[in-house]
Amino acid sequence: MNFPLDKFKKAETPFYYYDLALLQRTIDAVKEAAHDYRVHYAIKANANPTILERIALNGFGADCVSGGEVQAAIDAGIAPEKIVFAGVGKTDSEIALALKYKIGCFNCESLPELEAIDEIAGKIGHTAHVAIRVNPNIDAHTHHYITTGLAENKFGISMEQLPQVVDAAQRLKNIEVVGLHFHIGSQILDFEPFEALCNRINDLQDLYANELSLQMINVGGGLGINYNDPDYDSIPDFEQYFSIFRRNLKLRTGQSLHFELGRSIVAQCGTLISRVIYVKEGIRKKFVIVDAGMSELLRPALYGAYHQIENLSANSDSTPEMTYDVVGPICESSDVFGNEIKLPLTQRGDIIAFRSAGAYGETMASNYNLRKLNPPIFS
Ligand SMILES: *Cc1c(COP(=O)(O)O)cnc(C)c1O
Repeated sequence: MNFPLDKFKKAETPFYYYDLALLQRTIDAVKEAAHDYRVHYAIKANANPTILERIALNGFGADCVSGGEVQAAIDAGIAPEKIVFAGVGKTDSEIALALKYKIGCFNCESLPELEAIDEIAGKIGHTAHVAIRVNPNIDAHTHHYITTGLAENKFGISMEQLPQVVDAAQRLKNIEVVGLHFHIGSQILDFEPFEALCNRINDLQDLYANELSLQMINVGGGLGINYNDPDYDSIPDFEQYFSIFRRNLKLRTGQSLHFELGRSIVAQCGTLISRVIYVKEGIRKKFVIVDAGMSELLRPALYGAYHQIENLSANSDSTPEMTYDVVGPICESSDVFGNEIKLPLTQRGDIIAFRSAGAYGETMASNYNLRKLNPPIFS
C-alpha cells in the first residue's frame, strides 16, 4: 500500500487511515462475484459514517446487531428493507426501533425473543418478518472466541430444538417466518466449512419442505482475509467464495440467498497509524513502544491476532533488520502488538503502521486509560 507519509507526519497519532479506493475495488469485486445474491454489510466490522455511506451508495444492505447499528444504517442511507437485525439479546426498545423503521428481517435466536417480537409487533399493528437463526453445529476451524456455529455456544437455535421452535413460531400471529439464518464464525479461510453449511441447509430444506415456505436463506458472513500478506492479497477471493454456494446450495424456486460480509469487505482498506514514543532496551529484548495500544486496536490482546507491522519512516531496504517486541502504552501485560517482530532500525518518532485493521479495529476502540483516538484520515 502506498501511504501518504507526509500527511501522516503532520497528523496527531494514533489514528486510522482508510484507503477508499481499495474499499471501492473490494466492493466492486463483491458485486461482480455476487450477481443476484443479496449482500448485507455487517456494520459491527466498521461503522465509520464515511465507510457506511460508501456501502450504502453501492446498494448493499446492512446486518445489524444493535439498535445503534440499525440507526447508523438508516442514517447512512441504507434502505430499511435491506436491513437485517441479529443478536441473542435484542431489547424491547431495539425491537421497537427496528419495527418502526420496517426493517427487512429479524434474525431470531431464541423462542423468548420470537415471543417478544410478536408482542411488540402486535402492539403497533405490524407483522414482523423473521428468519430463524439455526446453529448448524459446524466447526469453522477458527479461534474459539470467534467460532459461532458450534453446538455449545450461545448463538442460534440448535437443530434438535428447531422443530419445536418452528412449531411455536407458526402459532404467533404477528410474525411471519420468511427464512433461515446461519453464521458459522469469522476469519474462515478454509472453504470446506462453507460447503458443509450448504449441505446442512439442503438437508434442513428437505426436512421442512412442508412446514415452512422459506423466501430467503441467509448464510451469514465469515470470509477471512490475509493478515500475513495484505499487499499480496488485498482483495479476498470473492469469486471462489460465492461459487461454493452456487455449486453446493440447492435453492428452491423464488428463494433469495443473502450474505452478511463484514471483515472481508473492510479489513484491508484500514490501517492503524502510530508513532514510536520510545525504543527501550531490556536485558534480552528491545521494545518499540508506540502511542497506539489495545484501546485503539484490541484484536491482538483479545484474540492473539496478528497485524502486519511496518515502519513507514525507515524506507531504505539496506537498513539492518532488528528484532523488537512492539507494545502499546496501556497498563496491561496483554497490550502487545507483536513479539520478536523484524523491523528496520527503529527510532523515536518513526511512523508505525498496523495493517489490515479496517475490520474490528475502530469499532472495538475504547477510551480505556482515558486515552484519545484521533479522527481518521481518508484517501
Ligand atoms: C459478525 C457477524 C457477521 C460478519 O462476520 P465477518 O466475519 O466480519 O464477515 C455476519 N453475521 C453475523 C450474524 C455476525 O454476528
